[in-house]
Amino acid sequence: MSNDKKQLSFEFFPTRTPEGRAKQVITRKQLSQYNPEFFSCTSGAGGSTKEGTLQAIQDILSEGIAAAPHLPCVGMQPSEIIELLDIYKEMGVRHIVALRGDIPSGVGAGMSGLRYANELVELIKNQYGNQFHVEVAAYPEYHPQARSAEDDINNFVRKAKAGADSAITQYFYNADSYFRFVDDVQGRGVDIPIIPGIMPIASFSKLARFSDTCGAEIPRWLRLKLQSYADDTAAIKALALDVVTEMCERLLREGAPSLHFYTLNQAGLVSTICQRLGY
Ligand code: FAD
Repeated sequence: MSNDKKQLSFEFFPTRTPEGRAKQVITRKQLSQYNPEFFSCTSGAGGSTKEGTLQAIQDILSEGIAAAPHLPCVGMQPSEIIELLDIYKEMGVRHIVALRGDIPSGVGAGMSGLRYANELVELIKNQYGNQFHVEVAAYPEYHPQARSAEDDINNFVRKAKAGADSAITQYFYNADSYFRFVDDVQGRGVDIPIIPGIMPIASFSKLARFSDTCGAEIPRWLRLKLQSYADDTAAIKALALDVVTEMCERLLREGAPSLHFYTLNQAGLVSTICQRLGY
């Protein structure tokens, strides 16, 4: 298959318990059969999951796989960020997902420190040169707080010009939005790889709730069809697997550089999609 050379990466979130950590080791082992470029681990804004993220990154590295910690910077002082990056560098991390993050409403008033992801990219590149490969976030359907589509594209271009090496998108179920976004930023002279973020669908209600806040659209036909299955989780999963796999096939066929899966700490659906894609 022509897409079998394109790499995959998988995203996890930090666990809170020893049982969760042990389960994640098994999940990663299942997904490591796809020879991932890296495993990434999210991190709560304001350092809320700092220990859990550090632990997961340590675990991933000890499994012999490249690890990419997410670093949401909002409200952090440059000195705190450098302290954390020094720790990551010492551990052997060479890949950072540089983000703004979301501070809960009401908490941010009067807060100092970094405000936007482009400032973080600049800080990392100024301080460390190319010692870290820096990924940033991209929003094919635009970030929910962006003043306009144009503004959001300009923001992405600003992050790329600050030195981002590549990007991972928010999830989407409309491949055209991805291709349009790539065309738009390439038209502004930015040609860093933009990797589609892929979210498998296990539960419609959870996905719908999350999509409302992060600005990802579930197409009307898909939303209605999934809703019509009510509690029939087998039917939801079957349709969602077909839809997501077909979208991945098209993305790879039409030029996506690789795929990044939001695993939600589960291997099952992601693994099925990878196998259907011929990995
Ligand atoms: P930015 O690029 O800074 O943009 C944020 C908003 O501000 C946008 O609306 C943009 O248009 C606008 N903007 C940017 N610069 C300016 C400026 N100079 N002036 C005015 N407006 C501006 N969150 C977490 O907390 N932890 C995670 O681990 C995490 N992982 C993620 C992984 C991926 C792949 C993605 C896509 C998102 C992730 N998020 C995570 C969510 C992310 O932090 C939120 O979407 C956040 O609201 C924006 O982060 P950003 O890095 O895209 O911000």
